[in-house]
Amino acid sequence: MIASVIVDVASKQTNKAFDYLVPEPFKETVQAGMRVIVPFGPRKVQGFVLAIKQETDFDTSKLKEVEDIVDVKPALTSELLDLAEWLTIKTLCLQVIALKSMLPAAMRASYHKRIQLTKEATIEDLADSLKPWFSKKGYAMWEDLKKSSETLLASVQKDVKAGHLFIEPLVKSNETKKKTRVIHTTCSREELETRALEFEKRAPKQSEMLRFFKERNEPIAQARLLELTGTSQATIKSLISKGILKQSDVEEYRDPYEGREFNVSKALPLMDQQAEALKKILASVHENRHDTFLVHGITGSGKTEVYLQAIDHALKKGKEAIVLVPEISLTPQMVHRFKGRFGSNVAVLHSALSKGEKYDEWRKIRDKEVTVVVGARSAIFAPFENLGMIIIDEEHESSYKQEEAPRYHARDVAIERGRRYGCPVILGSATPSLESFARAKKGVYSLITMDRRVNDVKLPDVDIIDMRDELKNGNRSMFSKKLLDSMNDRLEKKEQIVLFLNRRGYSTFVLCRDCGYVAECPHCDISLTYHRANQTCQCHYCGYQVTKPNRCPECDSEHIRFFGSGTQKVEEELKKVLPKARVIRMDVDTTRRKGSHEKLLTSFEKGEGDILLGTQMIAKGLDFPNITLVGVLTADTMLHIPDFRASEKTFQLLTQVSGRAGRHSKPGEVVVQSYTPEHFSIQLVKEHDYLSFFQREMYFRKQGEYPPYFFVTLINVSATDLATVVSVTGKIADFLRQCLSETTVIHGPATSAIPRIKDRYRYQCMIKYKVEPQIVHVLQEILKTYQTEMSRTDLMITIDTNPYMMM
Ligand code: ADP
Ligand code: ZN
Ligand code: ZN
Repeated sequence: MIASVIVDVASKQTNKAFDYLVPEPFKETVQAGMRVIVPFGPRKVQGFVLAIKQETDFDTSKLKEVEDIVDVKPALTSELLDLAEWLTIKTLCLQVIALKSMLPAAMRASYHKRIQLTKEATIEDLADSLKPWFSKKGYAMWEDLKKSSETLLASVQKDVKAGHLFIEPLVKSNETKKKTRVIHTTCSREELETRALEFEKRAPKQSEMLRFFKERNEPIAQARLLELTGTSQATIKSLISKGILKQSDVEEYRDPYEGREFNVSKALPLMDQQAEALKKILASVHENRHDTFLVHGITGSGKTEVYLQAIDHALKKGKEAIVLVPEISLTPQMVHRFKGRFGSNVAVLHSALSKGEKYDEWRKIRDKEVTVVVGARSAIFAPFENLGMIIIDEEHESSYKQEEAPRYHARDVAIERGRRYGCPVILGSATPSLESFARAKKGVYSLITMDRRVNDVKLPDVDIIDMRDELKNGNRSMFSKKLLDSMNDRLEKKEQIVLFLNRRGYSTFVLCRDCGYVAECPHCDISLTYHRANQTCQCHYCGYQVTKPNRCPECDSEHIRFFGSGTQKVEEELKKVLPKARVIRMDVDTTRRKGSHEKLLTSFEKGEGDILLGTQMIAKGLDFPNITLVGVLTADTMLHIPDFRASEKTFQLLTQVSGRAGRHSKPGEVVVQSYTPEHFSIQLVKEHDYLSFFQREMYFRKQGEYPPYFFVTLINVSATDLATVVSVTGKIADFLRQCLSETTVIHGPATSAIPRIKDRYRYQCMIKYKVEPQIVHVLQEILKTYQTEMSRTDLMITIDTNPYMMM
């Protein structure tokens, strides 16, 4: 019996399956999709079993054996193993990276390697350089040696070969499970009664407990048992020793939503457009057809209700559903809507859960204890085996793209899984990505339009304020007259206000007003951010920090100014102009602690605040009836980032924020402040006109040869040595020009928008193409060419075939 294994060694050379013999003890247990421990060179590493087979092309006498198994049940289904292969090709990543990305973080935890003396060896047998390491504990950690000096590892390898040392992986898997002690009995009710009578005089407590079990007759958690019977552990112990009671430890799920009550919700009678949408989707459900729907529905048009009812039909057919929501809008409100409808059938996966909690939610999916998962990006890999529906809400969100290997877009994975299961994929948004809308217009996706709000509630009026005019008229505050008036009006009416500040909106840097010095990180070409809380200047890319200077390091002037975090500054300003207003501030600083996000929102919902002030995290998903005014403080800062999607992101964000106002009976108003109010992506928010925005922006994409007209691939090269980076990027660009067709555009070599991060210089090449059948092959060729150099030096080449971060 042979196991074909992908080993957990991240290098191009190991990017293929290796064959191992399955020894006797594991023949019954080992299966495809399990993780195993196998010898690999001098080490023992973890690996994924891709397949079990009877034959191999290799000489079986030379094959090594599987050492151990890590999983008792397969971690990955056969479909996911297959999907990993697809992902590997699609994103040019290593197979083991694709496999690992499908597991919850707790299972991905890296393991440490312990180096031990073999039975035959003593410390005296070791190389001199190793002796001090082993004299202390009798063993050493691979990681410690590696940190100290790479040459030590070579000595270890020699001593391993000589039979003096062996290496043992310490997989930290115990921390992932929580157990509960459960007490039960195997006696019949008659027996229990007989024994209870027997003990009545001598041991009344024991007698009482037996009567308790006689009544109850089912297993109970020990803690609960003690609580209910008011007895002690000694009583239980002595009944166990008599063989009447039994104890066992069962794995318990940590349910992060335990003890919460969810209002049970029933399917609502649908509005016409909702009913129409549902009908189209159900046709695919009932014919088990893979279709991709793009639901273009304005904010408040009732998309979520359509999702809920569509899922309900899939579940009634005995199938399962995945719902993806952007991390940031995975609000308690959203979770409540799904839990309220499907109760304990729902698992929730998002980053606010601890590793252990996430693992438990994942386990419920694998063990088929739930049929619906609601989660952020990686929930697309939920190990369901009978998928009937995949929904991606806010499909335009860039958080669906993973920015590290495997660099996948959840939408592509969803469609691939949908195709395999013959099930519909539903993409929903008020502002679809240009790529998706273009596909819908071409008929690749079926377009469903919902352009009316539920109960025909009106979309809010949007006012665009030119902040340059405000300045001309002598208003130097950050609030326009219009916004201030409207805020006063709402405070009087006891209605609520959302104030939105673009995260990139306010600079938080240090500036000398005499010489213009701006504090920069010495390791990255980026300015430092001033943090008022601990009076430091920090680099957000590498974590470098210094205490704030009192004088300008350049010219020694005292006129050095610190611009604090945007939201803090706005809060201070609000205190001055609206002293009575109760402000709830939501940003990274106030939501750091677990659960604080939810607490702040609940408090706002209860009316304990008049103004909710925040960044991106308040732009989405909020549905509070009393919000009637939304103010956007700086609409245009996102327009200036070096990214071809800048206009699209601006339009999407402004539309989203505006959608928070007047969602129920009271009409809403939006005030957008801008320094470039004439820009179409700001003007068209006022008109709520996605279609015109689409047309205008498509024109620019065509001109600029960008998606969806062209495909874009970005190659990033970085290293600490600038000359290496320049030369490698140059060679890559030359190679691309040689191999790719004439119509393909290659930009570069060029410096990246941030030319240096963590002392590493960064260069890039961008490829824009329409048809390029050889591209995957060419890109793989590049990685192959540099694989040795990359494993020996700090050179790093990353390739993104669908980049969302242009920096
Ligand atoms: P979207 O997801 O499109 O922004 P929602 O699904 O959040 O819209 O719906 C907006 C509001 O309308 C919610 O409060 C929701 O409960 C309510 N709603 C949705 N569908 C109906 C319906 N058919 N009848 C009554 N209320 C509805
Ligand atoms: Zn200065
Ligand atoms: Zn830095």
